[in-house]
Amino acid sequence: MLFENIVVGPIHSRRLGTSLGVNVLPTEKKYCSFNCIYCECGWNEVDTKVKVPFNSREKIFSALQQWCKTTDTQQRRAVDSITFSGNGEPTLHPDILHIVEDVISLRNEYMPQAKVTILTNSTTLDKEDVWKALHLIDNPLLKIDAGTKRMYNLISKPVSTDFQTIKDNIIRFGSDCVIQTMLLRGENDGQIIDNTTDEEFNLYLDTVKRTSPREVMLYSLDRIPPAKNLVKVSKQELEQYAQKIRALGIKATAY
Ligand code: SF4
Repeated sequence: MLFENIVVGPIHSRRLGTSLGVNVLPTEKKYCSFNCIYCECGWNEVDTKVKVPFNSREKIFSALQQWCKTTDTQQRRAVDSITFSGNGEPTLHPDILHIVEDVISLRNEYMPQAKVTILTNSTTLDKEDVWKALHLIDNPLLKIDAGTKRMYNLISKPVSTDFQTIKDNIIRFGSDCVIQTMLLRGENDGQIIDNTTDEEFNLYLDTVKRTSPREVMLYSLDRIPPAKNLVKVSKQELEQYAQKIRALGIKATAY
């Protein structure tokens, strides 16, 4: 399912409360540096030669400003989070730093109570602009879904970024971030998928410990994924994994 607009919602989010989405990516196609087997936007398009029609900074500013001006105060004040999400990885937008600055200025003017959140797959943390942008944002939610490189490749299906780079950058980001992790099991392309085995989870815990994030968010499948043979991890089990993180002295929430 693709977002058809730049401003989406507000919707109720399990993790973020009342969330107003900002989709900086094209509205016609998904664009991501991962091809996660559980992605709600579906699989990436195979044709990488198509030029990506990013929405311009100006167009994004004006869409959000228009929403703010045409929405009554009560509804605006009910927004808990203005959330960069949508049809892929938002930090791939070449003007993400300026767009983040624009969104923060509109937040300050129209919805001062709202946090600004970004859901990122952590593949672009090497870029200086992205690094700066993520440090301006109240809630940088950095994704890591595996303990081993093998499981990372099976679950995230990265276009290029290697697992060690992702881990090193998340650890470097440190306590300013929130880590977001999808736990799941099943089978895809003849390979067993399970990021909850002792080996996987212990190695994952090592990254969490070395990062010492503000919080860890654990969740499992919520909608039908593009890979057909995946199984949701129950809330009760998520809670048990959250407990292992709390034992490190780190806040963890199971959704
Ligand atoms: S990082 Fe997000 S948008 Fe990209 S493939 Fe994974 S779930 Fe989909």
